[in-house]
Amino acid sequence: MNISKIKLQNVSKVYKQADQFEIILRNCSFEIKPGKLTVLIGPSGCGKSTLIKLIAGYETPTMGSIQIGEKDISGPGPDRAVVFQETALFPWMTLKDNIMFGPIQQGVSKSLAEKKSIELISKFGLNGFGDKFPHQVSGGMQRRAELARAFINDPKIMLLDEPFRGLDHMTRGLMQEYYSSLFEETHKTTLFVTSEVDEAIFLADEIIVLSYKPTSLKALIEVDLPRPRDFKMMTSLSYGKLKNKIISLLYEEALKGFSTGVSESAEMKDLIEVSLLQEQLLETKND
Ligand code: ADP
Ligand code: MG
Repeated sequence: MNISKIKLQNVSKVYKQADQFEIILRNCSFEIKPGKLTVLIGPSGCGKSTLIKLIAGYETPTMGSIQIGEKDISGPGPDRAVVFQETALFPWMTLKDNIMFGPIQQGVSKSLAEKKSIELISKFGLNGFGDKFPHQVSGGMQRRAELARAFINDPKIMLLDEPFRGLDHMTRGLMQEYYSSLFEETHKTTLFVTSEVDEAIFLADEIIVLSYKPTSLKALIEVDLPRPRDFKMMTSLSYGKLKNKIISLLYEEALKGFSTGVSESAEMKDLIEVSLLQEQLLETKND
């Protein structure tokens, strides 16, 4: 069953800012395996969030294709849930109402949505907190409510963009353990973005290391640490070796961030041309 395999082929993305074009992604090709937890790691600003937005269908590639199963992505869909670092919980709603908001919007009856929300409140360790507002609960609870909100539609694919960033060290560790066991139970195809090497290794089946901009695939690393994962693994020799390897790869790319000026290759001109064409097309559509 390849329904939730995600395949990127030669994906490039050009952004325009103040009349300047910048190639963010260049010929990114990789696959995200169904039922696996894939972690995307790379230097800050290399386009990790851009990749999440492309796979979520919020943005379109300048060139290249993204397929889920055998189908090209044509926009956002209920098969994918996205959780960003920034909280998306509505501050004026209780956790329970936040969690059941999605299904109600989609026309599910209030009683059914509420039933599902209550089930998830229990599953996500929020018993007794369903009637609290986001500001009344801890950061870890907010993150779990956010995950529950994403899970309520039973998506096939979870796209998580640095979901635990900003939490204190201990809570972040507990959330990693929590997500790891949730994944081991559900095996939902997950793409998890992080900039933390330990978080990447602890969670991943496979790690995609990205290069510096214009960004492409730098390395694919299998993590064969057994599941269920546990923090004691961090002291093992195989863990240490993996960590060294990833840090060296990231260091090489971070160093590139110190040099400036990218030569304008023919390929870059092609991409800029495509981007201009897309803009013209949009303008004619909007006229
Ligand atoms: P990361 O998540 O890896 O830190 P992002 O995907 O957020 O990186 O951004 C990659 C680059 O693309 C950054 O240089 C950012 O300024 C630029 N960028 C992202 N979104 C836009 C946009 N909508 N318009 C113009 N530039 C953008
Ligand atoms: Mg980002």
